[in-house]
Amino acid sequence: MKIERAAVIGAGVMGSAIAAHMANASLPVLLLDIVPPGAKRRSALAEGAIERMLKTEPAPFMTKAAARLVTAGNLEDDLGRLAEVDWIVEAVVENLEVKQALYAKLERARKAGSAVSSNTSTIPLKKLTDGLPEAFAADFLITHFFNPPRYMRLLEIVAGPRTRQEAVDAVRDFADRQLGKGVVLAKDTPGFIANRIGTLWLQTAVDGAFEMGLTVEEADAVVGRPMGVPKTGVFGLMDLVGIDLMPLVAARMLAALPEGDMYRRIFREIPLVKKMIAEGYIGRKGKGGFYRLARKAGGERVKESIVLASGQYAPSVKARLESVRAARRGGLKALVEHPDKGGRYAWRVLSRTLAYAASLVPEIADTIPAVDEAMRLGYAWRYGPFELIDQLGSGSFAKRLEADGMAVPPLLATAAGRPFYKSEGRKLRYLTSAGGYAELVRPAGVLLLADVKRGAEPLLKNASASLWDLGDGVVCLEFHSKLNAMDPDILELIGRTLKLVKEKYKALVIHNEGSNFSVGANVGLVLFAANVGLWPLIEEMVAKGQATYKALKYAPFPVVAAPSGMALGGGCEILLHSSAVQAHAETYAGLVEVGVGLVPGWGGCKEVLTRWLENRKRPRGPMPAIAKAFEMIGTAEVAKSAFEAREMLLLGERDGITMNRDRLLADAKAKALALAEDFKPREAPKEIRLPGPTAKAALALAVEGYRRQGKATPYDVRVSEALATVLSGGDTDITEVLGEDDLTRLERNAFMSLVRSEGTLLRIEHMLDTGKPLRN
Ligand code: NAD
Repeated sequence: MKIERAAVIGAGVMGSAIAAHMANASLPVLLLDIVPPGAKRRSALAEGAIERMLKTEPAPFMTKAAARLVTAGNLEDDLGRLAEVDWIVEAVVENLEVKQALYAKLERARKAGSAVSSNTSTIPLKKLTDGLPEAFAADFLITHFFNPPRYMRLLEIVAGPRTRQEAVDAVRDFADRQLGKGVVLAKDTPGFIANRIGTLWLQTAVDGAFEMGLTVEEADAVVGRPMGVPKTGVFGLMDLVGIDLMPLVAARMLAALPEGDMYRRIFREIPLVKKMIAEGYIGRKGKGGFYRLARKAGGERVKESIVLASGQYAPSVKARLESVRAARRGGLKALVEHPDKGGRYAWRVLSRTLAYAASLVPEIADTIPAVDEAMRLGYAWRYGPFELIDQLGSGSFAKRLEADGMAVPPLLATAAGRPFYKSEGRKLRYLTSAGGYAELVRPAGVLLLADVKRGAEPLLKNASASLWDLGDGVVCLEFHSKLNAMDPDILELIGRTLKLVKEKYKALVIHNEGSNFSVGANVGLVLFAANVGLWPLIEEMVAKGQATYKALKYAPFPVVAAPSGMALGGGCEILLHSSAVQAHAETYAGLVEVGVGLVPGWGGCKEVLTRWLENRKRPRGPMPAIAKAFEMIGTAEVAKSAFEAREMLLLGERDGITMNRDRLLADAKAKALALAEDFKPREAPKEIRLPGPTAKAALALAVEGYRRQGKATPYDVRVSEALATVLSGGDTDITEVLGEDDLTRLERNAFMSLVRSEGTLLRIEHMLDTGKPLRN
């Protein structure tokens, strides 16, 4: 069974975004909803949803072009078209009667053997399929996406006893490879895995803060970073998802959970939450939440937070807790063992949440890695519950539960002080419910650098980068500097790597598992050198970078960059100089140097310009290409997906896109090996002819226009001028043929003239202090 067309029923929050994400995966998809009473446009709901999504941030579509794959329709006129699709996702209101009535219609309209899945968050599959024909039940499963579906990686799949394995496999495989989801198989139990644990975690963290007298800042400081939870912690998270959701979710869980469940025991209504919802303080989408930005007289915005005891807003005060400080040095153990209120609160939250999770295996999932994966991908926790227990030590965790008079879950007793995970050589093993250890085996086509590194020694290493052996003659260069910023150490290791690969290996992959591939060059170093006037050092760093990147480009073996997350500035220039790129779909690439008052200096200007010059789809003559490169670099444009990077020619025809991050490294390795078969290094651009000063004057005119409209600051004009000099070819004219080195020389000169200017140093300083560009 192959999925080549799909339909989504219900064009609400989830349905429309699921349809968009299917389109991201190049799948034609039909989006249907009811005909609104009295509506002129019968498909108004689906049409409106598509229009809205084109304006939503963060964008559900990876490129605007993907929207064309979604066809809007309605459930009266377009039911017949369901016979064309291989997978129907139901995402209508959470109401059993509505869903079942719809299934009856689908059963008459759909193609025999097509898969049907529900996005329900709380209704058991048993109930959904109750009374429905066998043929329907055989093709039916639950696919529980998380909001927003493009960005949240978890997909929980629940199959019923009557579901055909083939239907499960087809949906699972498609969701994994094409939609890029981390698929976790869950049992047909209330809230499945992530929300079952997440709801209890939220309840205990909120309730605990009230009872133990913590401020919202303190609670978020404890629950956030030290536990590996996003820094929104728990109150910030509620503001983000909507405080009004909390009682709805609680009511559904209470209705569904078995007698004696821990959630039933600890649940209590929180009066302040009730009052906030009644008054419209439901978080970021309402008048404010536990936090809000209040506008004072004079327009200044002040961050405020709710005082839990009084329910009144007051200026937000940063948390200062010894326990949180202790956690930075001593980890989770130091946090929960600290006697201050932060430490006691941490223990309360963790003891309940982790004991609850341990009590639910194998009831909600067969294995502990499934539970950990669900919490990592569904709640963006850095560590799953069992990884957290290991950080505390399963033995001491159990002992302290006992000392507190809490029940020790059977699985924890089975562990008997042993860890839930252990490395044996290069293998990772996990504890099973039966008490033995099983090897964690990745699916075919999944290769994680973390697995490669386990029990291995790097081939080369310095403070900022390491080189690992991926086997089959392919090596992987990993950046691990702060924010994976490019620095002299990385350049040095690239140099040594190129030599080593030439001697002993077939190909090089450049990849890391940080949240960002690289945020660009370490401008802190540049500022430091500039402040003490070490100009030759800066120039040497620019020249060294140019030479290193050029060596990458013309290496006699394949160099495949495999980015995920941000690939900015010097990180983007790595992509531009690789033999090929295999990019994760969620790659955000761009040359953003103007934000710190610089121009790309490691060949970025040259690469973008020559790619647009050679682009056969553009009109002839160099000016359109120059203007395009000028606009992209001059406005620090960043692609919001790998598909957008392709539209910007940051990725080219040789480059591939991988939807599932876990498959990225394997895809990159395969690409490197394929290229190595009959490898020819990249060719230099054929003939670069640029107009020189006339083009520069045209660009200057455009910038002057922006300045007059207030869109460009005075220093923008100065930086743009330097950029225009590079992109127009400097002191040349159209009769002269330039080489790549002429362009990099122009880059270097422009870079050096800017870095000596006060305006640039102010921009760098501001960026380092605030993380945001200065508009001087
Ligand atoms: P929503 O209210 O935004 O959208 C529901 C859609 O169903 C609407 O477009 C509505 O017009 C349509 N609808 C209503 N009655 C219908 C009928 N009789 N026949 C066909 N369509 C009908 O809801 P949502 O948040 O998108 O949730 C949809 C499903 O996804 C629910 O089962 C929900 O539990 C689940 N879910 C939601 C989230 C979330 O965060 N919102 C997350 C995971 C799962």
